[in-house]
Amino acid sequence: MKPTFSIIAPIYNEDESLPELYKRVSEVMDRTHEPWELILVNDGSRDKSAEIIRDLVAKDKRIRPVMFARNFGHQIAVTAGLDFSQGDAVIIIDADLQDPPEVILELIDKWREGFEVVYAVRAEREGETWFKKFTASTFYRLIYRITDVKIPLDTGDFRLLDRKVVDVMNKMREHHRFLRGMASWVGFRQIGVNYKRAPRFAGVTKYPFRKMLKLALNAITSFSYFPLQLATYIGFLSAVLAIVAIPVVIILRAINPETFFGQASTLIAVLFLGGVQLISLGILGEYLGRVYDEVKGRPLYVVSEGPDDFDKENQNL
Ligand code: UDP
Ligand code: MG
Repeated sequence: MKPTFSIIAPIYNEDESLPELYKRVSEVMDRTHEPWELILVNDGSRDKSAEIIRDLVAKDKRIRPVMFARNFGHQIAVTAGLDFSQGDAVIIIDADLQDPPEVILELIDKWREGFEVVYAVRAEREGETWFKKFTASTFYRLIYRITDVKIPLDTGDFRLLDRKVVDVMNKMREHHRFLRGMASWVGFRQIGVNYKRAPRFAGVTKYPFRKMLKLALNAITSFSYFPLQLATYIGFLSAVLAIVAIPVVIILRAINPETFFGQASTLIAVLFLGGVQLISLGILGEYLGRVYDEVKGRPLYVVSEGPDDFDKENQNL
């Protein structure tokens, strides 16, 4: 039977949180009295997550596992979940229980009122370092300012998506994904629900600074050309500066031949412009590399075992 709700949880080394996640999600979802499925996408975990997922599947058929052949990253894991989901409404949640499953009921209420995208807004964050809070907050504000899609502030991937939205997003096969942006881009009626982000249930963050930076770059390059245009703006600015400086220097030298001697000013100008040029090249490279990835047209992820493989396995037993 086709479920009404699909819950997607990406799993990367979350063996300590998994049993609790299952317990709390199933408790909450049973309260809806509707059929549901829990899609656990194992993103190449190196701990006991895979075994625990197997145990859970054996216990409860509503769990549908997707095992990746290696670690592909959070956004890709959620994408696979969206691909495999069957529900009329799809809920994306973190496996570490930072997104309290109880909030899902509030998201569902809004969905029933007719909203196609219900995103959860982090009104408060508990148990995170000031560095994480600061970088996250700066990131959301920067993205809001420079991208063309107005991505709501302080929202993560914890949200409910209507089947209509999921169908559109599943057609967007871009490799460097920023799902929150994609969900905003789709449109439809969207609304936020405030919640208090809890501390991690167990373990440590799977988002080191390197991964956060990558996500931020993907967000910016996916939804804005602003960095590319920066070179043009700075180019115009330096050209105007040069045009103004030429007569000024000539006049000053005519009045007093001693002024504007020395290599320091020349060196500074050369270094500055050299720096700007290299940065612009780097920015071009960021976009070009992404274009190259799209052209290669590789699949977004490799599944070693999907829900159907598990069904077969269980029938053989
Ligand atoms: N995650 C994943 N693949 C990765 C990194 C993270 O599937 O390469 C999952 C992780 O298991 C968790 C979710 O993405 O369910 C969010 O990660 P985390 O809680 O570490 O991020 P934070 O909340 O610290 O930003
Ligand atoms: Mg987390």
